[in-house]
Amino acid sequence: MEPSNIDIKFLGGAGTVTGSKFLVKALGHQIMIDCGMFQGLKELRLLNWEPLPIDIDQVDLVLLTHGHLDHSSYLPKLVQQGFKGRVLGTSPTLALTEIVISDSAKIMEEEAQQANREGYSKHPIAKPLYTSKDVQQTLPLMRVVNEGEWIDLFEGISVRFQYNGHIIGSCFIELELQSIRLVFSGDLGRKSDFLLNPYKKPLKADYLFMETTYGDRLHPQGAPYEEFKREVLGHFSKGGKVILLPSFAIERTQLMMYLLWKLKEEGALPNIDLVMDSPMATKVLEVFKTHNSYHHISEPDLYSFIDAFEIVEDYAQTWEVIDSASKKIVVAGSGMLTGGRMLTYLQAFSAKKSTTIMLTGYQAEGTRGRDLLEGINSIKIRGKYYEVRAQIKNLSQFSGHGDQSELFDWLSELESPPQKCFLIHGEPSSSKAFKELLESKKQWSSIAIPSLNEEIQLN
Ligand SMILES: [Zn+2]
Repeated sequence: MEPSNIDIKFLGGAGTVTGSKFLVKALGHQIMIDCGMFQGLKELRLLNWEPLPIDIDQVDLVLLTHGHLDHSSYLPKLVQQGFKGRVLGTSPTLALTEIVISDSAKIMEEEAQQANREGYSKHPIAKPLYTSKDVQQTLPLMRVVNEGEWIDLFEGISVRFQYNGHIIGSCFIELELQSIRLVFSGDLGRKSDFLLNPYKKPLKADYLFMETTYGDRLHPQGAPYEEFKREVLGHFSKGGKVILLPSFAIERTQLMMYLLWKLKEEGALPNIDLVMDSPMATKVLEVFKTHNSYHHISEPDLYSFIDAFEIVEDYAQTWEVIDSASKKIVVAGSGMLTGGRMLTYLQAFSAKKSTTIMLTGYQAEGTRGRDLLEGINSIKIRGKYYEVRAQIKNLSQFSGHGDQSELFDWLSELESPPQKCFLIHGEPSSSKAFKELLESKKQWSSIAIPSLNEEIQLN
C-alpha cells in the first residue's frame, strides 16, 4: 500500500488541547483515535453541538488512548449519531471512561433541567448534549485490550497500545497499516511519577502524531515531595487550621492522598484530619484497587493510604467535616474550582486567614482557581460573593503532562526520523516552539501543525 491511500482527518485536538478526535481512513476501513469533547471557551464548547463532518455510520472502531474527558467523553454523542462499531481501550481506560461519561451525562441532564425550570436557556427547551440513555447504549460497545500486545483488527491492519505514563491505563497507540506504522502519542506523562510507571517509548514511527501541551515549557526542577511537605507543615506551624486542596478526580486526587499519607506515616501530621470529599475520585480509587499492574503502589500501601482518609459519602457528611473544630486537610473537586464539593468548603473557609488554598494543577482562564491565583479578594459561588482572606498557594510542581524535555526524550529511541510528524494537542505557540526544537535538534524536516477539520492524504 502507498501512503497516499491513507487519509487523516483532524476532528479535534488540532490547534487546541481539547476535543481530541482523529479519523484514519485506509484499506476500506475507518478508525477513530480518541473521541473527546471540546472544553473551555464557549466557542470551543459549541463545537460539541455541531454534527461531525464525517459519515459516522462508516466508522468501524474507536481506539482510546486514555479516559480523560477531552479524549473519551464525546463517545455517547457519537453513538447518538449512529456509531455502531466497537470501542477499544485498556481495562483502566474503559473503566475511567464509564465513570467520566456517566458523570457528564448526569451533569448535563441536571443543567438542562435547571435551565428549563428557571427559564434562563436561550432555547425554548434546553437539552443535554447526550443523556444517561446514550451512555447505556455506549457501554456494551467497549472491548478491553491488553497493553503491550499486537492485535489484528482487520485484514492488513493491526494495533498495539503501549503505556505512556499520563494517567492510570493511558497509552500511546501504534496503528500498523500493512507495513506503514502510524503512532499517536496520546497525552504523554512523566519520566518519573509517584503513582505511575514511566512511559514506554516508540521504536518506529513512519507517521507520528505527537501531543505538544507543554511543547514550549519546562516544569520547575526540584524535589516535589520536599516542597509539598514544606508548604503543608509551614501552614500548620504558623497557626493554620485548614488546608483545601482542590484536585482533579482522576489521578491528582489519588496523588495528593498518597503524598499526605506519606507525611502522616513520617509522623509529620499529628492530630490533623485527612478528608477526601469527591464521589468521582472515590470511584477512581476503585480503578486503582482493581488494576495493580497499571501503577506501582503496593497493595498494602494503597489500602493504607485510602484508610488514612475520612472518605466523605454524602453532603450531610460534608457539613459535619466543615463544622468540626479539628485541624484538617481536605482534598476535593473540582481542580479549577469550576464546580464540585470544594465550593462548599470555599464558602465556609475562604474568609478565614487560618485557611490555605493549595491549587494543584493548571488553572484555565475564567475559572475561580485562576482568579484566586491572580489575587482576587472576593469570589462568587452560587450567586453570592465570599470574601477571600485565605492564603493562596500554587503547587506547580505536579503535572500529569511531560514537559518539553520529556516530550523530546520520548522520541529518543526512534530508529529513524518519521516520514512526517504532526504536532497536535497544543496551543499554537506551544506546537510551534516544539516544531522549532525538532527542526534544530533532530533535523526533522517534515513537520506539520494541522488545523481543525483539516483532511490530508499521507505522502
Ligand atoms: Zn489527558
